[in-house]
This record gives sequence, structure tokens and C-alpha cells, in this order.
Amino acid sequence: MYLISACLAGQPVRYDSKSYHYEQIQRLIQQGKVITACPELLGGLSYPRLPAEIQNGNGADVLNGTAQVIDAVGQDVSQAFIQGAYRTLELAQLHHIQTVVLKENSPSCGRHWIYDGSFNAQKIKGMGVTATLLLQHGFQVISENQFLELLALTED
Ligand code: SF4
Repeated sequence: MYLISACLAGQPVRYDSKSYHYEQIQRLIQQGKVITACPELLGGLSYPRLPAEIQNGNGADVLNGTAQVIDAVGQDVSQAFIQGAYRTLELAQLHHIQTVVLKENSPSCGRHWIYDGSFNAQKIKGMGVTATLLLQHGFQVISENQFLELLALTED
């Protein structure tokens, strides 16, 4: 069973109410092999919402209180991001998830890359809050790019 970022499954839950459509993921959903989660909604945020970025650190720093997630008007939304990460962790544990597939670049879901906090579309190496928490609890966490590559290999 996979846990996949809801926006990768076509649900319009991004900050701008957009989503992504991947045939490969839709097939897995139809086969009953996927549960979806949007950590930011699970943390109490709605959509559309203001974009937010981690400032002065990464997901691990947010979890230990040394960095914050700040939205585009300067509000500290760290608590919503942390709560969403823990609720996603509970879902992964409840459903005995083998692989977690998260949307790259997000301050929640980013697996290898996040934005740098300047709102200038600059990426830095790092993980989002939810990706970090799930990895810390022993889950295999991969990005959608890795997942699509993996599916392409197994479909050959
Ligand atoms: S990247 Fe994660 S937090 Fe952002 S919309 Fe997608 S599922 Fe929600």
C-alpha cells in the first residue's frame, strides 16, 4: 500500500488549488493500492491558501523549533505544518504503508528539495516537515520523480 501526496492524485489541494495528473498513479488508485493525504489540510489549512516556505532551515529544524514555516504575508504557520506531519504519520502507521510518495519542493512534502524561504523561486537541498518526520519514523519516503521512474522500470 502506498501513501501518496493528495495533489499528485489529482486532488486540487495545492495552495493555488491546482493538482497533478499521472495516469500511473490513477491506475494504482483504481486498483485500491493507494491512500492519499495532504499534510497541510490535515494540519488545518484550507485551499486555496497563501504559499509558504521554510525560513532559515529545513523540515527537521521546523520540527525541533529552530526554523519556521512562514507564509507570503509573514504569518508563522509552523504549527499547522507540524500538526499535519503528525497526522500523516498516524495515517501511515494505521495503514501499514510500505512506501510514501511525496511531492518534491513542498515545505511539507519535499523529499530532496525545498524553496529557500525568499519567495524568489530559489530551491535548496532539503526536506519538508512531513517528509522528515516520516523518514525519522522509518518509512521509505520517495519523490514523485523517483516513483514514476520505479514504475516505469517495473512496467518494462
Ligand atoms: S505538496 Fe503535500 S502539502 Fe502540498 S498540496 Fe501536495 S499533498 Fe498537500
